[in-house]
Amino acid sequence: MTTVLISGAGVAGSTLGYWLHRHGLTPTVVEQAAALRVGGQAIDVRGVALKVVDWLGILPKVRQARTRMRGMSVVDGDGNELMRSTETAFSSGRLDSDDVELLREDLTQLLYERTRSDVEYIFGDSISTLTEDENGVHVEFTHGHPRRFDLVVGADGLHSQVRRLAFGPEEHYLHHLGTYLAVFGLDNILDLDNWQVWFRDGTTGGVVYPVRDNTQLRVTLGFESEPLEYDYRDTAWQRQIVADKLANLRWEIPRLLKAMAEAPDFYFDTMAQIRMDAWTTGRMALIGDAGYCASTLSGQGTSLALVGAYVLADALRKAGGDHRTAFGCYVARMRPFVEVNQALVTANAGGPPSEESMTNAKNAITLDTPSN
Ligand SMILES: Cc1cc2nc3c(=O)[nH]c(=O)nc-3n(C[C@H](O)[C@H](O)[C@H](O)COP(=O)(O)OP(=O)(O)OC[C@H]3O[C@@H](n4cnc5c(N)ncnc54)[C@H](O)[C@@H]3O)c2cc1C
Repeated sequence: MTTVLISGAGVAGSTLGYWLHRHGLTPTVVEQAAALRVGGQAIDVRGVALKVVDWLGILPKVRQARTRMRGMSVVDGDGNELMRSTETAFSSGRLDSDDVELLREDLTQLLYERTRSDVEYIFGDSISTLTEDENGVHVEFTHGHPRRFDLVVGADGLHSQVRRLAFGPEEHYLHHLGTYLAVFGLDNILDLDNWQVWFRDGTTGGVVYPVRDNTQLRVTLGFESEPLEYDYRDTAWQRQIVADKLANLRWEIPRLLKAMAEAPDFYFDTMAQIRMDAWTTGRMALIGDAGYCASTLSGQGTSLALVGAYVLADALRKAGGDHRTAFGCYVARMRPFVEVNQALVTANAGGPPSEESMTNAKNAITLDTPSN
């Protein structure tokens, strides 16, 4: 049976694990964090990606977990309302849409629960070396014993380790989009009732909205900047960067920054795209953000991850163990879908994608129905 090591237990990794097991392969997922990562803002499952979630058998639970916004306001730096809408929210689009917005951690938890009895998960470890030969890949881990796998897939996000080891340094592929984002949670100190508030002040901005039945807030704070030098693992350093950049802001920002200093689920990253000519090499492949991050601005990163995992697993099934053929099909199927979704950002610099371009992009691939 073909053994596949998947790096990363995010949306892409767990989804791939599900489909590989269902197609008779043997997946193992290695996740760097000690447990599933929490935190992050609400993400969207749209268009074709809803089918993947449906075929996985978790669509009712995903719909149950959806955010339930009534609308949104946009305020200036002093908190004065500039506009409001009860029809759309910038984060998710039209509120009457069939698409689903839910917290990233809720989706990854549902995917994990769906797969944990069939897929081997290793938490708290990471790949340190990959050595490929004719018959497989010898993998060394930071903590665990070395093992051999037939194939290795990087589903380990924007700063993918598999990409670095198999394809070269991140700077060859990462295109910074000029903005950094911090996301964290706190109690609903603003008493928001299923209502988003967006603010903009010069080159800074963000959004605040309630989650978990209005008991908590999820906050996103952003600022424009040239690429910054910092340690990806040093969250104290990252918090300080955000605090410094937003130090002079008014409205509720000082209270939010105070909460950020303590937030256990603090997440910070650049808004960036990964653009690569090749997503596979030898016995290794990339899916999701690792291969084709479209950035938060696209609103399509999670859907790309779901669809990419499905398409790769489907290609491996159809190729009956011939990974070269499978990888070729995977790339050929995904390339146009990725390009149209990445263009949501590059063709709409600065603003959210239009409804028309989003409708086109989210449906820009046709999936074959699973065979069993
Ligand atoms: C904690 C967190 C918060 C996020 N918040 C937001 C957000 O607010 N807005 C937004 O648009 N996108 C956010 N994202 C990214 C978003 O989840 C992805 O764009 C999208 O869901 C595609 O998923 P993915 O599975 O390709 O990558 P990700 O969701 O990034 O998952 C990658 C997984 O790989 C793991 N990993 C990373 N490096 C290694 C390694 N060396 N070895 C093993 N495992 C590794 C990570 O811990 C993570 O579990 C966040 C990602 C994370 C991990």
